[in-house]
Amino acid sequence: MSKPLILVCNDDGIFSVGIRTLIEVMSELGEVVVVAPDSPQSGMGHAITIGNTLRLESSDLFPGIIAYECSGTPADCVKLAKHYVLKGRKPDLVVSGINHGSNSSISVLYSGTMSAAIEAALEGLPAIGFSLCDYDAHADFSHVKKYVKQIATEVLTNGLAKGITLNVNFPPISAAPIKGVKICRQAHARWEEKFDERFDPYGRRYFWMAGSFENKDAGEDTDEWALANSYVSVVPCSFDLTAHQLIGQLNRDWKFIN
Ligand code: MN
Repeated sequence: MSKPLILVCNDDGIFSVGIRTLIEVMSELGEVVVVAPDSPQSGMGHAITIGNTLRLESSDLFPGIIAYECSGTPADCVKLAKHYVLKGRKPDLVVSGINHGSNSSISVLYSGTMSAAIEAALEGLPAIGFSLCDYDAHADFSHVKKYVKQIATEVLTNGLAKGITLNVNFPPISAAPIKGVKICRQAHARWEEKFDERFDPYGRRYFWMAGSFENKDAGEDTDEWALANSYVSVVPCSFDLTAHQLIGQLNRDWKFIN
C-alpha cells in the first residue's frame, strides 16, 4: 500500500514552530506536501486573493519534503495546492497548524488556520485544524505531538463525513499533563473588543485592536470547558451557516412584496 498523501498548511507562516511540529508528526504518517503562507496570516478568516498577484515559490526549509511558500492567505494556499502543486493528486488528509494561539469557540470564524481546513472540506477532503492555546512564537508543542498523531491517524483510518472538519485545540504546556480528549461543542462566547486610540509621529490617528475573551457559557460539553480542565477539545464543524430552524417561521410570518 502506498503512503497516504498529507497536505500541510497553516496561517502563522512557513517559518513558524507550529508548522514545523506538524510536518514532523505528519512525516511519520505519510508523504507530506507543504503549501503555507510566506508571512503571518492570522485572523484572515476565509479571505482569498482576487485583486492582487499570487506568488508561489518552492522552499527547501524541510529537507526531503516538497514545500512551497505562498504570498496569499491560508485559503489561497489550499486552492493553489489543489490546482497547481498536487497536479491532480488528491490528498488523503489536509492538516492546518499547529496554530500559535487558541481557535476555540467563536474564534473559529476569524481563524486562518481553520479556514485552510474548511477550504479543504469544501473540496470534499478530510481536514483537521490544530491550535495550541499559547500565542508565544517560541511555544512548546512537545506535549501535543502524540495527540496530533493519534487524531490524524483516526481520520486517516476512519475518514470524516463529507463537509465536516475538526477544530482541535490543545491546552498550553503550562496546563500539562493533558488528561485526555473530549469531543465538544463550540462554547457560546465572544470577544469584548477595545480599540486603543494612538497617534503616529506625524500626529495622525491610528487604532490598535485589543480585547478580552468573554465566556458566559457554563456548559461542561464545550471546548472552553475542556481546555480549562486540561483536555484536548475536538469540535466537529460544518460550514452550512443556514439557520434551518428559522426557514419555516420566516416563510410563514413575514410578508414579502411580489
Ligand atoms: Mn495564527
